[in-house]
Amino acid sequence: MTDYRAALKATDPDVFEALIGEERRQRDGVELIPSENYAFPEVLAALGTVFTNKYSEGYPGRRYYGGTEFVDVIENLARDRAKALFRAEHANVQPLSGSPMNQAVYLGFIEPGATILAMELSHGGHLTHGAPVSHMGKIYKFVRYKTNPQDGSIDFDHLRSVALKEKPKLVVCGYSSYPRDYDYKPFRQIADEVGALAMADVSHIGGLIAGGAMRNPMDAGFDFLTTTTHKSLRGPRGGMIVCKKEHAKTIDQSVFPGLQGGPHMNQVAATAVALKLASEAPFKAYASQVLKNAKALAAALTDQGAYLVTGGTDNHLMVIDVVKSFNINGAEAEKALDHAGVTTNKQVIPDDPNPPLKPSGVRLGTPAATTRGMKEGEMKALARVMVEAMKNHGDARRLEALRQETRVLCSRFPVPGL
Ligand SMILES: *Cc1c(COP(=O)(O)O)cnc(C)c1O
Repeated sequence: MTDYRAALKATDPDVFEALIGEERRQRDGVELIPSENYAFPEVLAALGTVFTNKYSEGYPGRRYYGGTEFVDVIENLARDRAKALFRAEHANVQPLSGSPMNQAVYLGFIEPGATILAMELSHGGHLTHGAPVSHMGKIYKFVRYKTNPQDGSIDFDHLRSVALKEKPKLVVCGYSSYPRDYDYKPFRQIADEVGALAMADVSHIGGLIAGGAMRNPMDAGFDFLTTTTHKSLRGPRGGMIVCKKEHAKTIDQSVFPGLQGGPHMNQVAATAVALKLASEAPFKAYASQVLKNAKALAAALTDQGAYLVTGGTDNHLMVIDVVKSFNINGAEAEKALDHAGVTTNKQVIPDDPNPPLKPSGVRLGTPAATTRGMKEGEMKALARVMVEAMKNHGDARRLEALRQETRVLCSRFPVPGL
């Protein structure tokens, strides 16, 4: 077998050196960005295979290229596993990432200029849900519902009145910075009432749904569930769509040839592997530990004077209002935490009065730290490090000492695949 690493090192030492640096960074610091994770080692193995060499436009059994007997096997495995895991009638595992996956739903089912109802972006909605800077935001008319910042609940009376007035063709739920779970049924009912399709973009929590720790929108009769495969699912970077059978043909045509060309078959192989692992018992324990760790981290932060948006968390993530808590902005907090060896990201809070590059919050999540085996005790230790770092954000020596503490903590929890 070719030793790919040795070949890379010999041929391109510059790239190899950057890889070594990145490995060290991932090992020595704590990763608390809620959309990031450590892929399963078997996923890394599948990604670095000759499946990347193969063109296979089309779908299993109906390809535009010869030599597809083995890629058909892996795509069928990935599709069947996705259907089983999310209790869906059809799956498309070809979207190259989260953004094209959502575009494939919009462009396949909604006429340009039509209305889509989605969550207010500063309340936790995602860029791909019609941000004005995105092409989708220009092609469609996005209208918004909001959350109650006090407890994060969704005002369904208000959502319904917006839906009745605006007559959306699609109701979207899903988020990247909302720290609560959804009750999916009212979304479905309101969509039915106005004749709209219902789509849940569960990109952040796909793994937590697969692991049985969070609700599955397909159980509430949603038309589409979209999810990235590289976040809580621990697969390769990619996206996938599961849907009702009646939408199968349209969604497949929308992904290919509507939006994309040849699928990345090494990514599809890695997705199949991640879906297999996500269906096994250890992953169920992982998914529930992610939530326990988030609760423990939220409680410890709150005990030490941090104000969390909506007052806590029901999922894997939380947003600290750092202006209110420590009188610093999100950019300053992100930098201080970085110096203390804790990777997070600055984050707008609902109806944030401050600009996106200096917002009022930072966003934290537990999927990656949980993958390393950290538990509630480590969350408590990390909360202390983080609060000290934010309180002493101007003190370089203090931050360096905290960084050492983080490194010692991390040395006890190896990164899978490293
Ligand atoms: C991450 C994310 C996406 C986009 O995924 P990319 O792979 O970065 O394009 C879409 N929707 C939600 C809710 C996400 O969290």
